[in-house]
Amino acid sequence: IASAQPGRTYIIATDVTFAPFEFEDENGNLTGIDMELIRAIAEDQGFNVEIKQLGFDAALQAVQAGQADGVIAGMSITDARKQVFDFSDPYFESGVQMAVLESNNDVKSYEDLKGKRVAVKNGTEGATFAESIKDQYGFTTVYFADSASMYDEVRTGNSVAVFDDYPVLAYGITQGNGLKTVTEKEAGASYGFAVNKGQNAELLEMFNAGLANLQDSGEYDEILSQFLGQDA
Ligand code: GLN
Repeated sequence: IASAQPGRTYIIATDVTFAPFEFEDENGNLTGIDMELIRAIAEDQGFNVEIKQLGFDAALQAVQAGQADGVIAGMSITDARKQVFDFSDPYFESGVQMAVLESNNDVKSYEDLKGKRVAVKNGTEGATFAESIKDQYGFTTVYFADSASMYDEVRTGNSVAVFDDYPVLAYGITQGNGLKTVTEKEAGASYGFAVNKGQNAELLEMFNAGLANLQDSGEYDEILSQFLGQDA
């Protein structure tokens, strides 16, 4: 077992805009729950991080290719991914939900997607879920690399709906992105930090130790409420 390497700089890959988990604030600074969490954990455990905003699918590929040491990107802990990644303890509960344009009064259920086009993001749980029901409900899927492009696709009317993680949809809707949710959220997996399977075990250990410390100290709750408000 490799020993911890405090002081070392680890390359951490993440998604592009996936608010409130990773996004640029009005001054262009990268922030969000994932970003503040990994920085606080690094500080607690005495290591450094260099964050690379690659996009979700690209972030996972970078870790698998050894171009990044870890990924924190609102990444759901799934059995399929456990074949290729080692995950930290879960740090946030999530799941998939559908959203449509605010002005759309025609799509109120999956049945209403018949013959329509739906936007999803490469390599995500939202895409996997959409694929799993698209034959049953008779819709087609179109793929994008990031959430912003998916939402644009719905705003322009090219697709009638988008499947994304519900905390991300909820945050965007609060920010006035012009969408609304009309169906219940699907049961989903929790988010975890991940490293390539069998590698960077010391980084994973430090993540878990740091996360536990932040949860004990109340700093974890502070980070959540900074982005989600008081009832986080
Ligand atoms: N939680 C989803 C997944 O792991 C989406 C993550 C994302 O788009 N950044 O597939």
